Amino acid sequence: MQPSEFKSHMDRLAEQFKNTYSQARVELIWREVRDFDAYWWGRLVDKLLGECRHSPLLPEIREAMSIERERSWSRQKQHNAQEAREFFLIADDTEARKSTLATILRRVQGRVPDDEWKQFVHGITSLGTRTIACRSCSGTGLVFLTDAEDYEWTYRCRCASGKRQPQLYVVAPEGL
Ligand SMILES: [Zn+2]
Repeated sequence: MQPSEFKSHMDRLAEQFKNTYSQARVELIWREVRDFDAYWWGRLVDKLLGECRHSPLLPEIREAMSIERERSWSRQKQHNAQEAREFFLIADDTEARKSTLATILRRVQGRVPDDEWKQFVHGITSLGTRTIACRSCSGTGLVFLTDAEDYEWTYRCRCASGKRQPQLYVVAPEGL
């Protein structure tokens, strides 16, 4: 969050619990919460204002932070698992590979309009980026390239994912 966002909520705390938050304490709190987002910080201040009988200090703030970390960690885990599942469904599904190839062949024949093609390529290239590490194909096994003369090429990547793609594709040149 931005310092100004931090300050606006910090001021609400200082207003409620007077003479508690010296400059030094405010700086300590800022250091602890700066990596969280402003929305979370605002909600935390609401909670502290509503629930604390005494001035909340670092221990109370840290406790709330650890609860939030756990919550966002488990959200992230669910999200990653879902992405990985979706990716492998497509990368390892023979039918999906066939239909991908069919679309590419239709494109070569001029039967896939530009915007549809753009979406198709985007759909494939965005599939694996977070889960798989091959830099050429992001784990999709396919490398899309438009050359200087505006010809579109679809290669089979040289990595393991590429080996799972149909033999019909030309294998990508080295260094691509
Ligand atoms: Zn690859």
